[in-house]
Amino acid sequence: MSRFDVLVIGSGAAGLTAALTLAPTLKVGVIAKGALGEGATNWAQGGIAAVLEEGDSFDNHVADTMTAGAGLNNRAIVEHVVSEAPAAIARLAELGVPFNPDGDGWHLTREGGHSHRRIVHVADATGWAIQQALEAAAAAHPNIALVPDMVAIDLVTGRHAEEFSTSGAVHGLYAFNRNSGRVETLLARATILATGGAGRAYLYSTAPRGATGDGIAMAWRAGCRVSNMEFMQFHPTCLYNLGVKNFLITEAVRGEGGVLTNPKTGHRFMPDYDERAELAPRDIVARAIDSEIKRDGLDYVHLDISHREPEFVRDHFPNIHEKLLGLGIDITTQPIPVVPAQHYTCGGVLVDVDGRTDAPGLYAAGEVTQSGLHGANRLASNSLLECFVFGEAAAKHIIANWAALPEPPSIRAWDESRVTNSDEEVVIAQVWGEIRRFMWNFVGIVRTTKRLERAKHRIDLLRQEVADYYRHFRVTPDLIELRNLVEVADLIVRSALSRHESRGLHYTLDYPEMAADAVDTVLVP
Ligand SMILES: Cc1cc2nc3c(=O)[nH]c(=O)nc-3n(C[C@H](O)[C@H](O)[C@H](O)COP(=O)(O)OP(=O)(O)OC[C@H]3O[C@@H](n4cnc5c(N)ncnc54)[C@H](O)[C@@H]3O)c2cc1C
Repeated sequence: MSRFDVLVIGSGAAGLTAALTLAPTLKVGVIAKGALGEGATNWAQGGIAAVLEEGDSFDNHVADTMTAGAGLNNRAIVEHVVSEAPAAIARLAELGVPFNPDGDGWHLTREGGHSHRRIVHVADATGWAIQQALEAAAAAHPNIALVPDMVAIDLVTGRHAEEFSTSGAVHGLYAFNRNSGRVETLLARATILATGGAGRAYLYSTAPRGATGDGIAMAWRAGCRVSNMEFMQFHPTCLYNLGVKNFLITEAVRGEGGVLTNPKTGHRFMPDYDERAELAPRDIVARAIDSEIKRDGLDYVHLDISHREPEFVRDHFPNIHEKLLGLGIDITTQPIPVVPAQHYTCGGVLVDVDGRTDAPGLYAAGEVTQSGLHGANRLASNSLLECFVFGEAAAKHIIANWAALPEPPSIRAWDESRVTNSDEEVVIAQVWGEIRRFMWNFVGIVRTTKRLERAKHRIDLLRQEVADYYRHFRVTPDLIELRNLVEVADLIVRSALSRHESRGLHYTLDYPEMAADAVDTVLVP
């Protein structure tokens, strides 16, 4: 059994921001289910949105965020996050993130849905640079213990206490230690979920392998409300290459003049769908590509930036240029084959402005949450920003309310007396593949009630199967993830079925119109 003042589950932008804010005052344990840099943060290419350009304003950023979010955003939260952005960027620069300079300030790119140049970046590897800086600062801090290879299974609540309680308070978690192969109990007065999204519920996703919605499923099982899970963002431009899955071509390629063409006809099709053409919000671009692909039976469409100076292309997109060159595509002279892929989970665990969930002692920050910032669709580059603002807010709230957070009670150790080692692991791979395939086919970019019901029917069967399996066999990382994936798929489908309109990322042929009132989907355990 290990004890910390505060436990942070997740070592991406949200988790490490929280840990660094807590560390001057409290002892923090940060766990990650694999290596520390395996979350989505490391993969972010584009950058972070902040109002820094002359002539831009907080009001503009708020308006762009609300337009993308189709009015479902919580305006007060949007205003709060937008106004915190410049300070968050300054803190990162202080930590040593080498943002691209421009004159006295930083170079800003423009991305779809933004009315101004607003994206602070480190070439096209912003997330990597941020992860490096945060990890280095956390590793150097004596009050932070970084614990990789520790897979959270479930939150510890009063139900796991020697003295049973239904208070709902969270006191830490049970986690599987990959190195010892044993389940450990980690206790803390406060716990922060920073486990990222649930993209791997889909067959095609730009999200890392570990994005299986663990935090959402754990919070749900611990009694927290989950909201807006139907709003899954599909990135319009993932590289189409059968050997290399999940390589994203950043929005900034379109921001810097890249055009989308139909490879059969050579026609630039985006102006047919939206007056903003390639700079329309992601959902519109993704649906347009989906429609071209389905109508003409294509495998992919082309994204072409070869009309710009080769030097400009190489300077702005060094990683993409190099990666694709290795695959035989020179983007300074050739178009890039692209398809849409799941990219961002807008919904998640409901939190307030301080990152508090419904469970006392449990906070959450980053992609695992529904904070009210994104509404029905995330504006590009607002998500890293959300991690910094809420990671810090949760930490500050914990510090300010430290005295009110109780010491964890005595907790029962993990009980393995009634389980054995699995003799049919093939079930896990089979069910995992099934879920991702039907989620892609039935709960994807364009939905219908019938398809959603088909998905629901399958989930109900698989849930039962996975629950049986979980009851009988020792946990493994794959089983832990699969159990969460089924839970999260169920939450996505139930949310989608309950929304009788098309809004933002949720587009259904049965309810193609947007309703007059914007109402969040809130699922109550
Ligand atoms: C390819 C790509 C490009 C992107 N580009 C941008 C961009 O340019 N700008 C932008 O704003 N956003 C971008 N995003 C989104 C953004 O990167 C993410 O929303 C953000 O990084 C999420 O950070 P996080 O801290 O919430 O989670 P993550 O960085 O995903 O970290 C999750 C952490 O939780 C841990 N974890 C998960 N489950 C468990 C468990 N069961 N037990 C223990 N630990 C666990 C993981 O190990 C990991 O450490 C991009 C996303 C992708 C995939």
